[in-house]
Amino acid sequence: MSLAISISTAAYIVAALLFILSLAGLSKHETARRGVVYGIVGMAIALVATVWLAASAAWGTTSGTIGLTLLAAAVVVGAIIGLWRARVVEMTGMPELIALLHSFVGLAAVLVGWNGHLHDSGLTGALADIHHAEVFIGVFIGGVTFTGSIVAFLKLSARMASKPLVLPGKNFLNLGALVVFVALTVWYVITPSLALLIAVTAVALLLGWHLVASIGGGDMPVVVSMLNSYSGWAAAAAGFLLNNDLLIVTGALVGSSGAYLSYIMCKAMNRSFLSVIAGGFGIEAPKGDDADHGEHREIDVESAAEMLASASSVVITPGYGMAVAQAQYPVAELTHRLREKGVDVRFGIHPVAGRLPGHMNVLLAEAKVPYDVVLEMDEINDDLASTDVVLVIGANDTVNPAAAEDPGSPIAGMPVLRVWEAQNVIVFKRSMASGYAGVQNPLFFRENAQMLFGDAKERVEDILRVL
Ligand code: NDP
Repeated sequence: MSLAISISTAAYIVAALLFILSLAGLSKHETARRGVVYGIVGMAIALVATVWLAASAAWGTTSGTIGLTLLAAAVVVGAIIGLWRARVVEMTGMPELIALLHSFVGLAAVLVGWNGHLHDSGLTGALADIHHAEVFIGVFIGGVTFTGSIVAFLKLSARMASKPLVLPGKNFLNLGALVVFVALTVWYVITPSLALLIAVTAVALLLGWHLVASIGGGDMPVVVSMLNSYSGWAAAAAGFLLNNDLLIVTGALVGSSGAYLSYIMCKAMNRSFLSVIAGGFGIEAPKGDDADHGEHREIDVESAAEMLASASSVVITPGYGMAVAQAQYPVAELTHRLREKGVDVRFGIHPVAGRLPGHMNVLLAEAKVPYDVVLEMDEINDDLASTDVVLVIGANDTVNPAAAEDPGSPIAGMPVLRVWEAQNVIVFKRSMASGYAGVQNPLFFRENAQMLFGDAKERVEDILRVL
């Protein structure tokens, strides 16, 4: 048995190092593929070592055999479902899937915590107190992560409105829940009772639900990365209870890298980090947008093709709609055709365009658009005023002038692509509907903007035919 422990400890150290190398690799385009391989190898080593450790401890006893059989069945069922989901998921469905997976981590932490309560740890004195605090904190973080991730899943998959829920005194509700948690923790450490555990589970589940429901669609990218961080801390808490060092290390890596990513995203979107993690603290109910923006104008395929053919500079700003329509291939073909005619074609990519960071870059790379014409928002924004034609393909919130001009807008202050400064703007979308943040876009009513209605892929193919 002690040999099994030494070998698995060594395997855990190797796996932890591979996870760190994986994170380092994932931070750059060029090394991302290597980073993924390190992660897969690390996880395989961790899984084999954990199963082996459990098997060597349980071997020969009846309860051990039952446990191992259940473990094997769970791993097989989990692997089948995981493989199936990963194969069928669309790129646009990735954030939902990630949110759902985070909810499992949260639920696991709650179950591990409950197990820690129901199973006599045999500890006494200060060690027992620490154990009880671990149970309580693990259940709390797990519960918040569980329901928070479910709400994120529902919002991202449009099963729930993306508008922020604004309950009266919502900040006090969140703050109150935290105070109740601290008070219950002290009480539980003194007298660990099942009723207190039930109470903290309920508080955590409600708080998780409320925290994420209070956050508006525009801030969802940050929420997904923040829940990633919470799921890491939940796993670390479970690691303490299970006495598993690798889980503690991995949880801390996920928790801290997720928190840092959320911080970077908040800075990029000009949002207050604290306000977002506190469930939209300080964000008041958005004003209904019933302003009269005037009439929009439409353009037909022939005129759009003509405008493109006679332009000398074109910038394409893609968004979620391009991903839905799978329009990246005709868009790549259009880029190629126009460049052949001597038109300077470039892309402007907003950091949160689509439904996950880097979404557009992946689609364009898949369609073989050359890297050097794909620019970040900050690299292209100043050139937009001197651009002849901007094609907004299935993007909406990321090109909304209200973010820059209307301090009352729910997306006020968020940096956007200033496409309205160009000579002409053609907007490809199917209707006048708003984008993910649920905010009307005054761009569509500007003098220099025209709408080309229909599915983005079909419309770009139509333009290609005319060209
Ligand atoms: P938006 O969601 O703002 O707009 C997408 C537009 O695409 C819609 O207005 C829709 O209009 C149009 N569209 C949908 N399907 C088609 C189609 N088949 N053909 C043509 N048009 C179509 O997308 P953006 O990329 O501009 O902005 C991203 C938004 O998502 C931001 O609010 C961001 O905060 C949020 N978000 C981003 C995440 C990230 O990590 N990047 C994660 C979660 C949310 P219509 O229905 O009229 O066709």
